[in-house]
Amino acid sequence: MAKLGNPKETIEILNKYHFVFQKKFGQNFLIDTHVLDKIIKSAEITKEDMVLEIGPGIGTLTQYLCEAAREVVAVEIDKSLLPILEDTLSAYDNVTVINEDILKVDINKLVQERNNGRPIKIVANLPYYITTPIIMGLFEAHVPVTNITVMVQKEVADRMQSGPGSKDYGALSLAVQYYAKPYIAANVPPNCFMPRPNVGSAVIRLTLHEERPVNVKDEKLLFQIIRASFNQRRKTLANGLNNSPEIHLAKDIISESIQELNLTPSIRGEALTLDQFAKLSNIIYDKIN
Ligand code: SAM
Repeated sequence: MAKLGNPKETIEILNKYHFVFQKKFGQNFLIDTHVLDKIIKSAEITKEDMVLEIGPGIGTLTQYLCEAAREVVAVEIDKSLLPILEDTLSAYDNVTVINEDILKVDINKLVQERNNGRPIKIVANLPYYITTPIIMGLFEAHVPVTNITVMVQKEVADRMQSGPGSKDYGALSLAVQYYAKPYIAANVPPNCFMPRPNVGSAVIRLTLHEERPVNVKDEKLLFQIIRASFNQRRKTLANGLNNSPEIHLAKDIISESIQELNLTPSIRGEALTLDQFAKLSNIIYDKIN
């Protein structure tokens, strides 16, 4: 089987199997070898590594992963891609394809069984309609992972790596940065995919922190406070926390906590750093427990 990664080979394999693209699965296949090389390099894969790929499609990135890693497990939801993957991956004996929805896979169990629970690497050209649930699901399940290197919408990559003061800063930035250090490795234009997406894309690597960057008494409370603070962007932090379906706190608890943090009452949520949100959540925790 030929090495995939250019328009000609991709069209040939799609025609051979009469493949029909399914929009609902976010299918945009990579057709650029430079981008594929860049993904592999950014993920820092070695022959020791087990890699989980989410959504192998016709197996283009999978071929590159099989060459770089010890073992690859690829989870694909669309069963019409299975015969294609059998063909395009026939030269590799270090790959397993699982036909499943990634959101339903017990990844901790997979890591336990296949890598003795040691950290894996996750690499994907993600289906954009479920980028956030996939990434947050991996973090929240505490899957042992060294890094996650993924193609996402450019706008989402910007949100993941922004800090206070940027228009892109929000609940996603804080959630990602609580668990990992983001690095945008490449910006990728629509013509690197077939079919072309309507948005720009970027490769982002999330290197998991060995230790959390902040001390938090209650993670769930921290994230409730963060989401409440960004619910109504133009409101002050106090108003956001007052009028949120996420969390119900007495008015005086909110104002006293903001004061204890030495912040002005008119401050907005988007001005706070992760460290300040962590401190605020710890102050509130002590008041309500
Ligand atoms: N990796 C291939 C490439 O780069 O050419 C395909 C990437 S394409 C953007 C996303 C892939 O994820 C598609 O093959 C799609 O069928 C698959 N997919 C979509 N939703 C999925 C889900 N919930 N679980 C597993 N795979 C999914």
